[in-house]
Amino acid sequence: MNEYPYWWDTVPALRAGSQKSEVRNQKSEVGRAELPSRADVVIVGAGYTGLAAARQLARAGATVLVVERERIGWGASSRNGGQVLTGLRLEPATLVARFGERRARQLFEAAAESIVRIEALIAEERIDCEYARTGHIQAAWKPAHFEAFRTEQALLARVFDHRVHLVPRAEQRAEIGTDAYHGVLVDERSGGLNPAQYVHGLAAAAARSGARIITGVGVDRMRQRSGGWLVETTGGVVETRDVLVATNGYTNGAAPALQRRFVPIGSYIIATVTLDASLAAALLPRRRMAFDSKHFLYYFRVTPDGRLLFGGRAQFGRPTPGTIRRATAVLRDGMTLIFPELAAERIDYAWGGNVAFTRDQVPRAGKLDGLYYAGGYCGHGIAMATYLGEQIARRIAGEPIDHPLFDDRFPAIAMYSGNPWFLPLVGAYYRVRDWLQ
Ligand SMILES: Cc1cc2nc3c(=O)[nH]c(=O)nc-3n(C[C@H](O)[C@H](O)[C@H](O)COP(=O)(O)OP(=O)(O)OC[C@H]3O[C@@H](n4cnc5c(N)ncnc54)[C@H](O)[C@@H]3O)c2cc1C
Repeated sequence: MNEYPYWWDTVPALRAGSQKSEVRNQKSEVGRAELPSRADVVIVGAGYTGLAAARQLARAGATVLVVERERIGWGASSRNGGQVLTGLRLEPATLVARFGERRARQLFEAAAESIVRIEALIAEERIDCEYARTGHIQAAWKPAHFEAFRTEQALLARVFDHRVHLVPRAEQRAEIGTDAYHGVLVDERSGGLNPAQYVHGLAAAAARSGARIITGVGVDRMRQRSGGWLVETTGGVVETRDVLVATNGYTNGAAPALQRRFVPIGSYIIATVTLDASLAAALLPRRRMAFDSKHFLYYFRVTPDGRLLFGGRAQFGRPTPGTIRRATAVLRDGMTLIFPELAAERIDYAWGGNVAFTRDQVPRAGKLDGLYYAGGYCGHGIAMATYLGEQIARRIAGEPIDHPLFDDRFPAIAMYSGNPWFLPLVGAYYRVRDWLQ
């Protein structure tokens, strides 16, 4: 079994360097010696946020340097499930209850805009990343959850002018090859892509626009001085006017303010061998993106080459060889509970990654202690990171724009400085609720 993301083997530039397990690849694609001493904007992190921002800023005429500790897309951007989903992490009813209809609508519309934007970007830059508007299904774990889907359907139509349809359990095999669920909600507006191909395509687009991307170089510290910043990296010091911290679930001590606001939570995925075509077609006949209605939800999909990818928050710890192996066992059990016919299929890949949560589960972008930031997408980040990266770049470039997700007063989490000690407690609580509710 390969303990690294399946997606890495689908990108020619990564395939050559693939290993049996995930080892740190410090190879620089540009070379430390070439680290420039000055740039208008330094962007820390080469995932969707940093690269979308870099492209936008370079097109606006700025000299842009992206500094990435590992390699392009090494973080969540090459590890995710590839599900480009409508809405936000928070359910529509929670959005309305917490923020009122007006703000809830603004947030939901920002998420809708992010999908329009990612589709346009992929088309404009001709990024070959298997993007398809497949739609998604949410599967009801309990009969009561299907009833709740009816309320959600009505709310989505009334408050957000967004249509979804429901398929009861008796007919659900047209959507999903299992009786383990109690009906499904179908949203045609979502899509799927290959995340690693997408992030590499985005990097190429940013480079074509004039941004420089240096990999294998980490930022250790940022020091403010008149007119800008000194960015201290493992490859030397860079002087700059503005910094965008785009490190999200991999934020370290170089950005202590963000470390106190983003909570990294491990999420894990397994991928089967390529399945027999008729078996793959029976699992998800319309090749939709899928997830269920539990707190500790399973998310899954079939890849274009016919593997089932099956993910979930199967371990609390951050991904290590130990947690990946334990998560693999948990996810395999989950997968065979939903699809018993996969019991004999081999697992080819297993991996994990960090998802960045904010305390209220709303993503953010803005300026904190003089540094720009964007992140906290709570597992809904493919489209949103691309979009918020662009939005914050427009602000850095001097456009007089405001956005409902801009927040320069993003509060820190009390008694938290980057080590999520409270997760096992919260986790135990929700695990019990999944079985009781
Ligand atoms: C297992 C998993 C499944 C997911 N599934 C989905 C999904 O199906 N759909 C969806 O929409 N979202 C999903 N997500 C979330 C999505 O992947 C993220 O929201 C998105 O990739 C965030 O992009 P980013 O650019 O902000 O951060 P990242 O891609 O994490 O990039 C941050 C980068 O910063 C670098 N870095 C950190 N510190 C430094 C430093 N000091 N100096 C230099 N570089 C540094 C890191 O090496 C990293 O490459 C999933 C995430 C995970 C982990």
